[in-house]
Amino acid sequence: MSVTASRAGRPEVVPWPDELAERYVARGYWEQRPLGAYLDDAAAGRPGTICLVDGDVSLTFAELVSRVDGAAQRLHGLGLRAGDRVIVQLPNCWEFVVIALACFRSGVVPVMALPAHRRQELTAIARLTEARALLVAGTVRGFDHEQLAHEVAAAVPGLRHVAVTGRRNRPDSLDLVALCAPAGDTSARAAAPDPGDVALFLLSGGTTGRPKLIPRTHNDYAYMMRTAARICGAGPDTVYLAVLPLAHGYPMAGPGILGTLVSGGRIVILASPAPQRALAAIAEHRVTMTSLVPAAVIRWLDHLAGSPAADLDSLDLVQVAGSRLPDEVAARVTPALGARLQQVYGMAEGLLCMTRPGDPDAVVHHTQGRPICPDDELLLVDEDGTPVPIGEPGILLTRGPYTPLGYYREPELTAAAYPPGGWYRTGDVVRLRADGNLVIEGRDKDLINRGGEKIAAEEVENFAHQLATVSQAAAVAMPDPELGEAVCLYVVPRAGSTVTLAQVRDVMREAGVAAFKLPERLELVDSLPVTAIGKVDKKALRADIARRRHP
Ligand code: AMP
Repeated sequence: MSVTASRAGRPEVVPWPDELAERYVARGYWEQRPLGAYLDDAAAGRPGTICLVDGDVSLTFAELVSRVDGAAQRLHGLGLRAGDRVIVQLPNCWEFVVIALACFRSGVVPVMALPAHRRQELTAIARLTEARALLVAGTVRGFDHEQLAHEVAAAVPGLRHVAVTGRRNRPDSLDLVALCAPAGDTSARAAAPDPGDVALFLLSGGTTGRPKLIPRTHNDYAYMMRTAARICGAGPDTVYLAVLPLAHGYPMAGPGILGTLVSGGRIVILASPAPQRALAAIAEHRVTMTSLVPAAVIRWLDHLAGSPAADLDSLDLVQVAGSRLPDEVAARVTPALGARLQQVYGMAEGLLCMTRPGDPDAVVHHTQGRPICPDDELLLVDEDGTPVPIGEPGILLTRGPYTPLGYYREPELTAAAYPPGGWYRTGDVVRLRADGNLVIEGRDKDLINRGGEKIAAEEVENFAHQLATVSQAAAVAMPDPELGEAVCLYVVPRAGSTVTLAQVRDVMREAGVAAFKLPERLELVDSLPVTAIGKVDKKALRADIARRRHP
């Protein structure tokens, strides 16, 4: 079979060039197996072993497989077929795992939305993907996701089904828990999807005013989760604690829940990384591995400094990724948690870098690791695309077997981010050390990294411009002691007008935008600084707000 032929006529995947695709198969990166097959392998050897714990719910491998089969059959019963898109907007819960795996099994493509997303994001994602179903939790922290899901369904033609975990308030909502019930007949499986097809859509960290979706194929995602699992030493003794939103690729497959399950390990699911519950869960379930963002690590370290009693004996490996971990915090992790630190640098678009568990402190405390695949290629360039001299910081371009070549149905955005030659322009400014490890030094993309959640400056600015009193607006990152960065909005008001932070936040709230994108500070100025070519000088604004915060 030709590696690429199976994708002919499927415009959702920009195919890897034949030569690269053949190399990835020949070298064993693409095993030509659908994601669901890996779960079956793991379950076959240990059907009675507990593999998933979520509060009172615990499932053996056999029970998980049966629920996955049941959910796949019921999705089929709803008329959903391979290639159809389903938006999954769930908090961390066992249903997320069952539904994701059921989709992988049947070829239905889950679109991973964040629980924080609201009307604006969900509607845009639903329209872009022509989603047929939206799967949500009922009411979470006072927010009625069921109601919103129906509003989105009413606005998007073809979005026919809303399924809800927990209590349902509307007769036209489907019961997601029932959808995930065990299968009556596990032998009745639909044909497995083609491994070159899209397995799931991840949301890009985004620098634009609209969402960008990354089509991840079975082949590429399977390679990533298996390899990350191998590097982390995941196996049947692994107990992985999932505390970050599962819709992110990192807790899902780096190795995360999927990599742990296919290695025969156990996953323990919590709603958040709040330290008290997470540390108690480590003691209770003898957790060996977890993944955090720097903001969560800092909260854990602060918590432990105040109450060091937690039993963390079992904890072996703590991954940290999503934003830059300050070196001095890195050095505190092992003494406080008694576990090895692994720095991870990755992106929904693909490339995954990790320090290795055996690396010396000089690597683990000061770098964000090296790629997981020998065929991950890295190229450091300047703003004009010219390669920088060795050792100098540059904008990182990458290509490799699990870095797809374009965004879904976005030719212009794809052209901007994917230079010719099969490269992806990460927009991160990095330094490549002689030992092959990367140090993330900054970025050349217009976003704010708020505790690991990415916010496109353009999106915030667009909302600010909806106020008639705003003449110019520029959103930039300001230093935040807990989150690393938060959103600061500079505004030039129209003559004789004024603008308040509350007004901007109200506009965004009324538009139905995820709360994490709302600016935390507004600076009124007479004019915005500009660069030599007349663009707003965001570097100068970032320096300005840093000075104002810490004079
Ligand atoms: P996402 O696709 O949401 O995972 O975001 C990917 C982006 O997060 C990367 O391009 C980086 O800008 C940033 N990022 C991820 N990991 C790290 C890290 N360890 N250090 C610094 N930035 C990071």
